[in-house]
Amino acid sequence: MSPDHSPADGRLIGMPASPGIVIGPVHLLLWEVPDVAHRIIADEAVPAEISRLHEAINTAKERLALVKARAEKHAGPEEAAIFEVQVAILSDIELIESVETLIRRNIGAEKAFDLVLIEWRQNFARHTQPMIRERVGDLTDVHIRVLSVLLGLPDHDPVDLPKGSNAILVTHDLTPSLTVQLDRDTIAAIATDAGTRTSHVAILARSLGLPAVVGLRNATHQLKGDEQVILDGSAGLIIPDPTDAQIAAYSDRAAREAADTAELQSLAGAEPVTLDGIRIILRANVDLPEEAEYAAHSGAEGVGLMRTEFLVVGRATMPDEEEQYRAYVKVVKAFDDHPIVIRTFDMGGDKLPVGGYPTEANPFLGWRAIRMCLDESELFKTQLRALLRAAMHGDVRIMLPLVITVDEVRQARRLLEEAAAELDARGVDYRHDLPLGVMVETPAAAVAADTLVKDVAFFSIGTNDLVQYTLAVDRGNANLASRFTPLHPAVLRLIRRTVEVGDQNGLEVSVCGEMASQPLMAFALIGLGVRQLSVAGRSVPLVKRIVRGVSAEIAREAAEAAISTQTAREAEHELRTRLFAAFGDAPFLRDGLPEFVDGNTFEGISGP
Ligand code: PEP
Ligand code: MG
Repeated sequence: MSPDHSPADGRLIGMPASPGIVIGPVHLLLWEVPDVAHRIIADEAVPAEISRLHEAINTAKERLALVKARAEKHAGPEEAAIFEVQVAILSDIELIESVETLIRRNIGAEKAFDLVLIEWRQNFARHTQPMIRERVGDLTDVHIRVLSVLLGLPDHDPVDLPKGSNAILVTHDLTPSLTVQLDRDTIAAIATDAGTRTSHVAILARSLGLPAVVGLRNATHQLKGDEQVILDGSAGLIIPDPTDAQIAAYSDRAAREAADTAELQSLAGAEPVTLDGIRIILRANVDLPEEAEYAAHSGAEGVGLMRTEFLVVGRATMPDEEEQYRAYVKVVKAFDDHPIVIRTFDMGGDKLPVGGYPTEANPFLGWRAIRMCLDESELFKTQLRALLRAAMHGDVRIMLPLVITVDEVRQARRLLEEAAAELDARGVDYRHDLPLGVMVETPAAAVAADTLVKDVAFFSIGTNDLVQYTLAVDRGNANLASRFTPLHPAVLRLIRRTVEVGDQNGLEVSVCGEMASQPLMAFALIGLGVRQLSVAGRSVPLVKRIVRGVSAEIAREAAEAAISTQTAREAEHELRTRLFAAFGDAPFLRDGLPEFVDGNTFEGISGP
């Protein structure tokens, strides 16, 4: 079913991003620059209009102080610092004088402010210095906030919601400044127009344990705000103004889902071994250090991917070595002696650090991940020093994102040696022999995996990006979601190639993309020879159930049949037939698949 399809009963269909059912009021957040009419004012009105501008700026600053205080409480002072930058912008004399100049030329305050901010945003976006370009996001936030005050529009900050609101935040997309305001005492679920299952809003929602539906395309205009809705994160849909019967049915389902989750949780202590005795290593993906404890209790044997960029997203300043060290140690200590694979900063694409990112025509093909870290060597070495020190507390392994050539690995290793020498010079303790591995998430890395083997300690396949780059399908584009097909033969072949190269060279190969979390795909991966999976903490018990319920030999046959087909749909059919033979048509097998509740055909996941 296409994501913009709104059935006759008024349901809004998007994509499942994070499971769970919430029944609550909509908190609509239209964080868009409003349209401003041109208003000419008389000469006598100029002083009053300038006062109005200053009052609006003061109101916006007071508001920012309140938002900051609330964000500090539940996200921490570092995260809340983003709002200081915005207060500083509002205190900028040059900016205020430019607006006053236009008002003196008889332009109404809101239009004057609008014109100046449009010009500033354009100039910042084109600036040669990345640090300046990074401020565009803050300028946009300030632009919206002050205009909202001047035009008397409602201020939508979620900070206004009383505790226990159980609200469903409906917005176009999650911006960094919104993310740090997410207070779980008030927001119970998220719904966005933009995004897909593998976009970072979805990943973050799953980390936070917030049910979420993404890719709704137009929900911010279809919903009025404040009305009651049912959000079903497993099915990817929203039911506005539900009937009593619907509320009763969904409350029942919510209770059943809670019971299923509790039952699955009982598997936490069980060994992930297939029916024919193949041991699979199941680790957790950790996006926020706070999740580590939960992930450890889910039965994960360590961390297969810590996404460190979430320490940075939405921040006004980069975390220093000490702060990073504390964050990494927190994760290491949660898992005793198990391996902790920490990925170096993967910023760019849709993970935006420090108030924005250089404006690029193609951010996913741009200055992101290892490319940015190698160019910003001081930033990178700060992270490497923190990792070397954190490794004193456990089995830390370093992983480089988006690698396309061994040159990047060698350059990173040189910087790792420099980082170690810097710690030596300071007389600080650290561990010397950290394994250095790479993400295989580009066709370049997969096809030429053999060129990397001498320089790396392990491979971890990032299927979210591997699918995106192999199929040329933007992972975050809701319009293309049905074309994002991990079971495309090209993707399956690249995974198999990587596993073969790893096996031939004695390198561990894991999969840490979303594919590993979905039952049908996890089955395919086991069949392709993958023996290590890293999945969201909440998916660990589910994937464990799959592992314990299948035979690796049957998975191998299924994968063999799947990889020999011509299309993703045919591959899915081959896998499904064999997986259903093992489990029957159990609903949990369909986790993340659009038809879970709707009764669409199961074929839906493979797209055209
Ligand atoms: C991936 O690309 O599959 C991956 C695990 O990394 P991320 O989702 O953070 O890009
Ligand atoms: Mg990736």
